[in-house]
Amino acid sequence: MRLCRFNDDRLGLVRDGQVLDVSSALQVLPTCTYPLPRHDPLVAHLPAVRAAIDRLIADGVRLARHRLEDVRLLSPVANPGKVMAAPVNYLKHLEEAREDQGIHHQNQIGEIQRVGIFLKSTQSVEGAAATLAIARPDRRNDHEIELVAVIGKAGRHIAPQDALSHVAGYCVGLDMTVRGPEERSMRKSPDGYTILGPWLTTADEVSDVHALDLLLQVNGEVRQRANTRDLVLDVAQLIAFASSFYTLHPGDVLMTGTPEGVSQVFPGDRMTAEITGLGRLSVRIAKE
Ligand code: MN
Repeated sequence: MRLCRFNDDRLGLVRDGQVLDVSSALQVLPTCTYPLPRHDPLVAHLPAVRAAIDRLIADGVRLARHRLEDVRLLSPVANPGKVMAAPVNYLKHLEEAREDQGIHHQNQIGEIQRVGIFLKSTQSVEGAAATLAIARPDRRNDHEIELVAVIGKAGRHIAPQDALSHVAGYCVGLDMTVRGPEERSMRKSPDGYTILGPWLTTADEVSDVHALDLLLQVNGEVRQRANTRDLVLDVAQLIAFASSFYTLHPGDVLMTGTPEGVSQVFPGDRMTAEITGLGRLSVRIAKE
């Protein structure tokens, strides 16, 4: 199932280039009271929401339909408890980061097994329809296309062989980055610097998450082209690694790292990012 969030927090089922408004399925979610849960309620109750959507379709309920190009796509996860990100998780990107002073800024670029995973601010999360405002025009601001796994089931100390059963689904991610000497979490957390979308593709729709092509273009020019088979730590190993430090909750976002080809974007550029089977998102960089 492909589920998007669109316009004013509507829930959509993406089918054949159309978005069916299935927002009424959200009625199965429990009412939240203070203190709010640490997880994303929609992802936490995804099986019940999916069942409700199946009933809407089976019962032939009249649903509003939109063309995909007519909706404003929001982040498929509204309330991630945390955004985890793998720093350098493709060997060729490790090599380019070590060679390019514009990327490393005298920061030591270590292997992920040694430097671990970092966290981005949840406030940086936006959907595909957002226009990205460059946070620091005095700096190099780069695109990083990444496969994103959305956690569906809570767990701590998850074994690699069980890890993929903790994934609710996948989407395309852009880990936007201000280059410079500061800590990664600061440089990658400006408002809008985590773009997720175009929608959530549930895990059952992805036959092999480690055989997906990634493609990022800027103004139609290919900048990053890779395949998830070249991940240093694969999705299962990343989940095991992350959960050895903290409990994972439904709706937690895991960005799995970017391949080689990162480059600067400028005001007025348009980035398109796509991953096999997960769709394509198109994001404009705001003019100054
Ligand atoms: Mn990254």
